[in-house]
Amino acid sequence: MRLSQMLFVTLREDPAEAEIPSHKLLLRAGYIRRIGSGIYAYLPLMWRVLQKVSQIVREEMNATGAQECLLPQLQPAELWRESGRWDTYTKAEGIMFALTDRQERELGLGPTHEEVIVTVAREMIRSYRQLPLHLYQIQTKFRDEIRPRFGLMRGREFIMKDGYSFHTDEESLKNTYQHMHHAYSNMLRRSGLAFRAVEADSGAIGGSGSQEFMVLAEAGEDEVLYTEDGEYAANVEKAVSMPAEAQPSPFTSYEKRETPGTETIEKLCKFLKCSPTQLVKNVLYQAVYDNGMTVLVLVSIRGDQEVNEVKLQNELVRLADGYGAKTILTLKVPDAQEQQQWAASPLPLGYIAPEIADDYIRSDKHLNPKFLRLVDKTAVDLNNFVTGANESGYHVVGANWGEQFQLPERVVDVRKARHGDRSIHNPEQTLQSARGIEVGHIFQLGTKYSKAMGATYTNEQGEEVPLMMGCYGVGVSRLAQAAVEQSYDKDGIIWPVAIAPYHAIVSVPNVADAQQMQAAEKLYNQLNQAGIETLLDDRNERAGVKFKDADLIGIPYRIVTGRSLQAGKVEVVERATRKSQEIPLDEVASTLKQWIDAAT
Ligand code: ATP
Ligand code: MG
Repeated sequence: MRLSQMLFVTLREDPAEAEIPSHKLLLRAGYIRRIGSGIYAYLPLMWRVLQKVSQIVREEMNATGAQECLLPQLQPAELWRESGRWDTYTKAEGIMFALTDRQERELGLGPTHEEVIVTVAREMIRSYRQLPLHLYQIQTKFRDEIRPRFGLMRGREFIMKDGYSFHTDEESLKNTYQHMHHAYSNMLRRSGLAFRAVEADSGAIGGSGSQEFMVLAEAGEDEVLYTEDGEYAANVEKAVSMPAEAQPSPFTSYEKRETPGTETIEKLCKFLKCSPTQLVKNVLYQAVYDNGMTVLVLVSIRGDQEVNEVKLQNELVRLADGYGAKTILTLKVPDAQEQQQWAASPLPLGYIAPEIADDYIRSDKHLNPKFLRLVDKTAVDLNNFVTGANESGYHVVGANWGEQFQLPERVVDVRKARHGDRSIHNPEQTLQSARGIEVGHIFQLGTKYSKAMGATYTNEQGEEVPLMMGCYGVGVSRLAQAAVEQSYDKDGIIWPVAIAPYHAIVSVPNVADAQQMQAAEKLYNQLNQAGIETLLDDRNERAGVKFKDADLIGIPYRIVTGRSLQAGKVEVVERATRKSQEIPLDEVASTLKQWIDAAT
């Protein structure tokens, strides 16, 4: 492609709308253009990158025996009602764009395709003989993200590869899951990315496994905890660890103490001269279930620990049945205003005890009349602990479960693992922390959707049983931007060769110089014919501008038809290392071919 004929517009200044380097660079280099909040146009250079990523994804998927298809983006509401997700997706999380057509039929724009694929499967898969089966597609997804940001990283319209596998049993599912793990690792390695596969939260569905593929980068929205020995890596949402040992309590007898102005753990420990490991803190949450019921949840946890809200949420979804609900809509620490909506009188915030009275909760048919009291494992074994006295400005010390306080019935693990904790598999290993961008997620779904939607097959014994399922997603557009986030310098993007929009760019320092132009044209044709995707910068611009642009758009190899032409050579500069080399004209194609093959 000739730059003189391309839509080629680069910006000198960082666009104000962008916060992270990859977003700034893709805008500046003319790869993308913002059309609306979380909505982007992929311009020709970007589209080439996206097609390259898609092709790598496709090849790796096909190699596992999965088959490509294309499912509709317009999805009838009935399907989502069958799976039970219409209300959560359109109202609670509100992530699905929904519309009503001229016939008054409700539709959603596909944020994901479990409902559609299960509809296909229940009609077409009849017998165990058709299994296992794996279908995937590469397609634009729509999600009304509450906070679209960072360009393609979190868009409202983005490209995803999503695949769904069907099995007779768990062993077959695990087998495909393993193949996906391998395929995903290949995709990322081939795309030139540094990544880590980590254990991921599977929500309340449980299931026996889910892993996320994280591209390591400072700008990542996720935190990953791992051990140096490579034996353990998990998303912080899912991670487990051993908490530090609790210090023995300095208090020997039960006593109520005046502790003015100690509504935080730090102030309290300073005041009482004790360790936060000797405290039981009681954190109040407000959970709203999908049947409109609000449940006030009190979590008692050791003072030095934090609640992992993802784990807590999973616990509450497991308890949904008991409240006549299916799932949870929101979970948060209520602020003063929210408390007024349910509290009969002001709570002693910062001084709450595990047994705060249920009559703080107003009587209302939408309010569960009792606190749901949970105790985290870390708080169970404490002796002579400190906790709130249910009275502003007062705590109790030397308290014990079974004496002054009843141990809450439900013992849970909702603590947040963190950097520096000892690892469970080997306490000598401490957890390290890194930031990651989630580009892929593989998930053993089990029978959640097939059961809900009645997708069954006949097994060898002639019985009708629900299909076992797995699902596997890759954010194609997110992956492409993540590559930039991992690979750039002060001058611009440094594309990994395998996903660069073009391999090489021939820059002509002076287009008025016939010899330069002639050599450039010849090289341009030769290289393209040799399968080396090449741009020709034939614009009537200064050499400096051309070199700057070539660096900014991040083409792996720049060829300059300049002074060395006199000696029958051109200068070839590698973008990543800036190494420059003079190569005889007739060797350029073969040399580049070698380099490209080695790098892809
Ligand atoms: P996140 O936690 O980042 O919102 P998710 O758990 O909702 O992701 P999945 O539903 O598993 O993501 O989707 C599969 C893949 O699609 C993700 O791993 C990610 O790479 C990509 N993806 C998800 N949401 C977006 C988005 N809003 N913009 C771009 N890519 C996305
Ligand atoms: Mg999401």
